[in-house]
Amino acid sequence: VGELELIAAIETALADRSGRLVRWTGDDAAVTRARPLAVTSIDTLVDGVHFERGTHEASDIGWKALATALSDIAAMGAEPGEAYVSVVLPEDFGEPLELVQGMEALASECGVTIAGGDVVSGPVLVLTVAVTGWADAPEELVGRDGAQPGDLVGVTGELGGSEAGRRRLAEGSNAHDALVARHLRPRPRLESGRALAAAGATAMIDLSDGLATDARHVAERSGVELRVELDRVPCAPGVSAEEAVTGGDDYELLATFPEGLREPAESAAPLTWVGTVSAGGGLLLVGADGPVTGLSGYEHP
Ligand SMILES: [Mg+2]
Repeated sequence: VGELELIAAIETALADRSGRLVRWTGDDAAVTRARPLAVTSIDTLVDGVHFERGTHEASDIGWKALATALSDIAAMGAEPGEAYVSVVLPEDFGEPLELVQGMEALASECGVTIAGGDVVSGPVLVLTVAVTGWADAPEELVGRDGAQPGDLVGVTGELGGSEAGRRRLAEGSNAHDALVARHLRPRPRLESGRALAAAGATAMIDLSDGLATDARHVAERSGVELRVELDRVPCAPGVSAEEAVTGGDDYELLATFPEGLREPAESAAPLTWVGTVSAGGGLLLVGADGPVTGLSGYEHP
C-alpha cells in the first residue's frame, strides 16, 4: 500500500463525532471551535518498551496508545475531545490500518474524534497521541496538588489486573482471559473522572505507573503524606496487594476527598477507600505488620 492510499484509507476509517470540528483530515491543520479551557496531554508508546509486537495485535496497540493519553484527560476531570496521532511505521509492519481501527474503536466508545495525524517510516513502531479535553471553568478540573490533611484516599475499580494480564499473555494466554483483555484494551475512566471532579475531589491522578508510584506524586505535589492500607486495596482476581500497588497500566483513578464529601464521592464512581491524608510528606504503605518499604511502581528513567 502506498502512502497516499494508506492516508486515504485511514481518513475513511475515522468519524467526526465532536461537533467542534471546522476542518480536520485533508487540510494542513485541524480547526476546532474551542471551549474556554483546553486540557492537553501527550503520550508516546514505543515497541519493546510499552508493548510487544509479538504478543499485541495491531488494533490493541492502537487502542492502548489512545487509552493512555485519554487516561490523563480523565484524571483532570475534563471532557474528552479530539486526538492527534503520529505514527512511525517500520517497513515490516503490515497492519497500519488495523492499528488506526483499534484506536478508532476506543475513540468511538469515548466520544472522541481522531482529528489529525501523521505517518512516517522509521526503524521501530512508535505511536504518539496528543489529546485535547475541554472544560468551561478552572474549578471543574482537578490537579495533583490539592490533597489536604484529613482527606480520604479512594481508588476506582480493581488494581493489578493489567500486570497480571501481561504475565499471562507472556505465558501464552489470549484475550479471552479477562485479565489479558484488561492489559490489551484498558478503558480510561473518563466518566468517573468527571463525576469525581464534580463531586469535589481535592486531588486526582490516573494509576498508569502503579499506586506505589502515582500516590507518591500526589503526596509530593500536595505537600502532604498519603497513608494507604494494603489490606484495603481492591485487588484484581489472583493478585496480591503488593502486586496491585506496584503493577502499572491499570488506568484506574486515585482521588482524595474531604471526609464530609464521602457520600457524594461514593455516588460518583465505584470507589474503595484505601487510606487517609495527613500532614507530612511522601507515601506510607501500611501492611498487617506495620509500614512496608521498598515497593514502587514504574519509575520513569
Ligand atoms: Mg497520568
